[in-house]
Amino acid sequence: MSAVRHWLTLTLGCALAAACANPQPSVAPIAIPAAAAGSSGASGSSVAETAQPSSIGAPTMRPDATAEATVARALSYVSRLRELDATEPVKGRVITRDEMVSRVEHSLDTEIPPAVVKASGEILFALGTVPASFDYRLGLLQVMRSELLGFYEPHEKTMFIGADVRGQELDATLWHELVHALQDQHYGLEKLLDFQDDAGDWQGAVHALAEGDATSAMLDALFADKHVRAPDLPDKMMNLQNALSAGSVEGVPAIIKRSVVAPYLDGLSFVNALRRRGGWPAVTAAWQRLPASTEQVLHLDKYDAHEAPEPLPPLVASSSAPTQAVYSDVYGEQTLRILFEEWMPGRAAREAASGWAGDRLTSYSDGDRTSVAWRIRYDNEAAALNGLHAFARGVLAPEDQTTDASGRLSEFVSAADAERATRTGHVCRERHTRGPFAVLRHGRELGVILGPFRRNSQSAVSEGQCSAALGWAAALFTQPKAAH
Ligand SMILES: [Zn+2]
Repeated sequence: MSAVRHWLTLTLGCALAAACANPQPSVAPIAIPAAAAGSSGASGSSVAETAQPSSIGAPTMRPDATAEATVARALSYVSRLRELDATEPVKGRVITRDEMVSRVEHSLDTEIPPAVVKASGEILFALGTVPASFDYRLGLLQVMRSELLGFYEPHEKTMFIGADVRGQELDATLWHELVHALQDQHYGLEKLLDFQDDAGDWQGAVHALAEGDATSAMLDALFADKHVRAPDLPDKMMNLQNALSAGSVEGVPAIIKRSVVAPYLDGLSFVNALRRRGGWPAVTAAWQRLPASTEQVLHLDKYDAHEAPEPLPPLVASSSAPTQAVYSDVYGEQTLRILFEEWMPGRAAREAASGWAGDRLTSYSDGDRTSVAWRIRYDNEAAALNGLHAFARGVLAPEDQTTDASGRLSEFVSAADAERATRTGHVCRERHTRGPFAVLRHGRELGVILGPFRRNSQSAVSEGQCSAALGWAAALFTQPKAAH
């Protein structure tokens, strides 16, 4: 969700500036538990534990000369393995977890407009994926605090390593992050991933490529003595469920965890598929012709066919809701899938998101009051109908339903119920804290309206009805008057 967007930009920090959410999501599913735990004695199955040991006053604060040499050695190794020369050295510095977290916090606060962070939290709430009490910015920092092992900082050309990271976990972090350094040297990652309006899906694709590339190379290095390469590993080993349970950060909504992990897993599948047919040169070629959407990352045939996203015009506001647009973006197929996974099994979610052709989402606000409009275009009517049914499972889901241990809804609304509820081509429900949730199909397009609702730190309450929401959803398909 916009969660994704932020994660993208942030984890992408991984790639680019802020912070790598560490190679753990990709490492854990492939089960190198003992190895990943390194010598720190931390359990490989718990990212949080590896993160938490107090680094304050730890005897592990190595002199930077040692860090420098370690980084230089790892850079030389990974550049040979990745078949990409380093064009300049990378500095190395060991820092405490506290310093790492404050750097990430600074990146989050300076690299993404605060209005966008706020709007993203409201959108997640509007979609029913986070509770009213959830603070998006703090949630992101919480995940970072526990997941972060190290990161490459392109402004300073420096690899920062957590003082509490050791053993094979340290190696994996260095290999992964130094591929990002190589990407930055060759492809100017930093610029590519600078926050831009309406670029969420496109940058999500670049982010997935960056993470897939770094993770694939890191896996080669981890399995080097077994003469196994990442593309030889069966895709099913990269199990999303395992990855998610590895990143079990208490109190963080499942949708945020899924959006953190997605670029690694989707990117790894994409990169491994490229490598299977053309080795590393095929990956290098993808950097020269970047995927234009997450749809292309998820479907190699669509990347090959240059299937471009269809741009949609600005959305029309409604007089029944706040009219000040505070955030607009293209969410893309990957984000749509991550959302659908909230309401149905993974496979059904993948199917309902595929066939995506383009979208535009805009969040409107006047202080405490928020509403969200989302226009989604599919390739054809059948795919749009499938999308309508998927949304209906979210619309019909009881508000504030309990979740199971993995943070999922305890029970999904059935596909049959969703079909029944959408026979008229639309569905809407009035929710007492989040306002109406309306979805309307028009040919191969969907119009989605959430809210308006009023939310502040104390409470959240609906400020709208289905009649107005459905009217607005229908109006999304009309062409707005050209601005002059
Ligand atoms: Zn990374």
